[in-house]
Amino acid sequence: MIEKYKQDICEIGRRMYARELVAANDGNISIKVEENKLLITPTMMSKGYMVEDDIILIDYEGNVLMGSKKPSSEYLLHTTVYKSRQDINAIVHAHPVTVSAFAICSRPVDMRYMPEAIMSLGVFPVAEYARPGTKELAQSIMPYINDHNGCILANHGAVSWAKDIYSAYYIMEQLEFYCKTSLIAEHMGNPKIIP
Ligand SMILES: [Zn+2]
Repeated sequence: MIEKYKQDICEIGRRMYARELVAANDGNISIKVEENKLLITPTMMSKGYMVEDDIILIDYEGNVLMGSKKPSSEYLLHTTVYKSRQDINAIVHAHPVTVSAFAICSRPVDMRYMPEAIMSLGVFPVAEYARPGTKELAQSIMPYINDHNGCILANHGAVSWAKDIYSAYYIMEQLEFYCKTSLIAEHMGNPKIIP
């Protein structure tokens, strides 16, 4: 199963990079393998070019159990979600262009423009700013873990979580689509919310 999960992480990494949900070495992806063990992407490596051997197995304290690379400095963001939600098995953190612009403006996403957004994304709140890679960043998302599918990280990007890696990825892809569409509609002027 671990080998299959590593393949899935590499595949999702390629999709994120190809769809401009991350630039350069940005972003990180994880899958919970069992209680207290997760596979996570390495630090300082493009998500578009990872191979299975680059993926690292760590415990919730960040100790490396398998793999030769250094795990993402953002692992606390991932373990905080896994510790709070037993039903969550995969997490995606990305810096999609439009979502990141919403993050810079600290603007929550108004889902009332399209029915699919309400159904599949739910409310996407903005977590308070904290420096990347810190305990404070992991703490900033805590108020939103139980009742949301992810959140926007102020002045940074976004994180999404789900029962499996493809679902977590699709949330991020849809969030970017929706933010981009909302922005264009608002720019065109007078967007209508669903009656
Ligand atoms: Zn980031």
